[in-house]
Amino acid sequence: MKNGKCPMCNSTKIYTNSNAIFTETSDSANPYDVSVYDSENEVTIYLAPYICVNCGFTASFADDMNIVKGLPDTDGWEQVK
Ligand SMILES: [Zn+2]
Repeated sequence: MKNGKCPMCNSTKIYTNSNAIFTETSDSANPYDVSVYDSENEVTIYLAPYICVNCGFTASFADDMNIVKGLPDTDGWEQVK
């Protein structure tokens, strides 16, 4: 998806908007930014939406990979096996 190709329909019409804001509504389970607390501080992972305008498939990616790369050293995160 981040490489500009939809994994569902193979379209290259992928769009993102760094100003997009995820909102939580009462009738859906939209994703929104993730806040993580470890023993010393709060880490917020901002999510960026990637949407295929051909089929509508949507994916979210963390905006800041430097934060993501530090997650294994943050309390509470376990590798999925
Ligand atoms: Zn698609």
